[in-house]
Amino acid sequence: MLIVVALGGNALLRRGERLSAENQHRAIITAARVLAAAILKGHKLVITHGNGPQVGLLALQSLAGPVEGALPLDVLGAESEGWIGYALELALRNALPPGAEVATVLTQTLVDATDVAFSVPTKPIGPVYDENQAKRLAAEHNWSVAPDGKGWRRVVASPQPQGIVEIASINRLISAGVTVICAGGGGIPVCAGADGCLTGVEAVVDKDATSELLAEQSGAALFVMLTDVGGVYLDYGSKAQKMIAKAGPAALAAHAAAFQSGSMGPKVAAACNFVRHTGHPAAIGALGDLAEILAGQKGTIISPGHETLSYYSGAL
Ligand code: ADP
Ligand code: MG
Repeated sequence: MLIVVALGGNALLRRGERLSAENQHRAIITAARVLAAAILKGHKLVITHGNGPQVGLLALQSLAGPVEGALPLDVLGAESEGWIGYALELALRNALPPGAEVATVLTQTLVDATDVAFSVPTKPIGPVYDENQAKRLAAEHNWSVAPDGKGWRRVVASPQPQGIVEIASINRLISAGVTVICAGGGGIPVCAGADGCLTGVEAVVDKDATSELLAEQSGAALFVMLTDVGGVYLDYGSKAQKMIAKAGPAALAAHAAAFQSGSMGPKVAAACNFVRHTGHPAAIGALGDLAEILAGQKGTIISPGHETLSYYSGAL
């Protein structure tokens, strides 16, 4: 079965851990083992990943250098896609038998220059600051900053993906049996001019939204988003929270306002879009649970057959 698997931040770095080479290496090896197990079971995987912490770190490094060397966000997005793609490909090759084909495709994502997202930055990138630090850095570097979890972070424009520039090549690789890593960090955002010429733009596309488009356009039979929670909760964070086991897109979308815009909201929206547009299921769950998610035993499964919500019972 062809599956698009989107890896969240925890696959690359545990929440709260420093973005050191060692920490990232350890997290990526764990992720690669989980993915390799699914491949060895006979599934074809297309793997995508986020880049929030990494692209933010690269932006800080770029600002710390000579002024004329400061790089725009599209270039930093490309750097982060190369960085993470390389690390993931290496770990996956090491976890698979010799001869397994794995290739990373540096991917560009087409966005609309008139997208309203360019005037309302929402996507958090880089480290978490306290409020004073964040506001000082915002004034210094002309950033937008916003609260994220317990701290504050830089936020950048996150336009909707309209197309994947390399989709035909990605599909050729999939057909040839290659495990493809692509659309990292949501892909490098580019706009097409009236003459069709592409130009990179200052933005970071949401990886869940691009992964959904990729899942549709690659003909995936399942779209899985792996993160650091076991599934989608209703009343998340409250004593009454309960994890959804099975849901239909309409039943889940009815609660859309309850899902946080910077985290679970985009995943739920991407899952619902995939199910509505293809009739195939989508799943949201924890990285370590991939095998059980594929067996329908863990995670939140969104599929056309479930027009009501069902919940996991007992302590989770
Ligand atoms: P990723 O890097 O995997 O995309 P995100 O931080 O964007 O990670 O999304 C996962 C996070 O969403 C979880 O760690 C959890 O704290 C948060 N979250 C917010 N609302 C919910 C919810 N309703 N159910 C489950 N998790 C939620
Ligand atoms: Mg996210």
